[in-house]
Amino acid sequence: MNRAEKKIVVLGAGESGAGAAYLAHKKGFEVFVSDHGKISDKHKELFDSNNIEWEEKMHTEEKILLADEVIKSPGIPDNAGIIKKLKEMAVPVISEIEFAGRFSNARMICITGSNGKTTTTNMIWHIMKNAGLNVSMAGNVGQSFAMKVAQGDVDYYVLELSSFQLDGMYDFKADIAVLMNITPDHLDRYDYKMQNYIDSKFRIIRNQTEKDFLIYCDDDPVIRDTLDKMNPPVARLSFSIEKLEGQTAYLVKEKINFNYKNQEITMAITDLALKGKHNTYNSMAAGITSQVLRIRKEKIRKSLSDFQGVEHRLEPVIKVHGIMFINDSKATNVNSTWYALESMNEDVVLILGGVDKGNDYSSLMVLVKEKVKALICLGKDNSKIINAFEEMPLRIEEARSMEEAVKKAYSICNNGDVVLLSPACASFDLFENYEDRGRQFKQYVRNL
Ligand code: ADP
Repeated sequence: MNRAEKKIVVLGAGESGAGAAYLAHKKGFEVFVSDHGKISDKHKELFDSNNIEWEEKMHTEEKILLADEVIKSPGIPDNAGIIKKLKEMAVPVISEIEFAGRFSNARMICITGSNGKTTTTNMIWHIMKNAGLNVSMAGNVGQSFAMKVAQGDVDYYVLELSSFQLDGMYDFKADIAVLMNITPDHLDRYDYKMQNYIDSKFRIIRNQTEKDFLIYCDDDPVIRDTLDKMNPPVARLSFSIEKLEGQTAYLVKEKINFNYKNQEITMAITDLALKGKHNTYNSMAAGITSQVLRIRKEKIRKSLSDFQGVEHRLEPVIKVHGIMFINDSKATNVNSTWYALESMNEDVVLILGGVDKGNDYSSLMVLVKEKVKALICLGKDNSKIINAFEEMPLRIEEARSMEEAVKKAYSICNNGDVVLLSPACASFDLFENYEDRGRQFKQYVRNL
């Protein structure tokens, strides 16, 4: 079948769907875009100006079921009615990453994990750019991979991949895969089975051979056990802050040692741009990736020390009367809040709460006891958090808006304390998304 005869249906018209539709159109396929919700004006204009047919607020089944291949947006779950029907009819359903990968000859550096993806992706991109490589960053960050490919290929892509994107990937291969950690998240989309979520994350090494690389955290028991069981052919390079043996990056006396092949780099963690244990891991992953890419030692060291960080990830806002405010709105699960608290050295007023995704707060207890003087619960329904922490010797307050949360936190603090927004929950009860939550936090802090 030639391209003009092949019917591609794109389901979902967000960043990834719009990019996929545009690329498919550019490559000469017949394209139809269907979104169950509303499509943004920006994307409607893109479709109209390219004569790409689209519909919104509905799925016209007769048309969709005629597809030769469907590109599904990561937000659409596999149990959506239309996806079930497509599967019954054996129509291939793939992700935008799988589709776009067919049209690129670039080397693919792909990052996944439950936490740290965006930070590590940005860090690797920053180092590669500083080293003068022709590199583009896409995936879950910024513009979609498909849109980038449509605009012209580059030598390297650094792609942040979520488990939902990985689920729709079959023939795609990462030249370098980076697996940060696997802790429970999104289990609602995986039949509440952790194994399904683990399998999804491990799709990052699908199709990899002994010529490719997997860079992973050896302190993560889930990753370690799964690798032991799978024993994949890929070349493995690991990092750890707990042990030395067999590691490509490890920690000795507060210094990271990188030792890929004959290149040895030593770097004090105080010289890293981003602080905290989790960022030591992220820096290790980024450093090893750069070594594999043969980037010069001085460049790697410099880039790891001048990286600016990403908005909403332990982002320092300002100090008001000696009280530091930190925006970690992207902490949408318990594990990321654990790492945020772990990196605090001051007394903390913690703003926590939102939409609970089946959270178990028990892992936070030790750190909360040690560092937190007050909790501000910011959510429509705070009962679960209050129940979890009410026995502890700390002040617990509730807030129903960011303005109220910031004012309450400020009134409790003394000089030298920190107010940390690190909610461990999704944001959709009171905010549009985590960005909106973080921006409102910054705005009300600046208004103090
Ligand atoms: P992701 O893209 O995977 O959601 P981000 O880099 O956006 O990851 O960080 C999300 C949150 O997780 C941040 O709030 C940050 O404090 C925390 N975090 C960052 N890196 C790690 C890590 N390696 N392990 C655990 N938590 C992390």
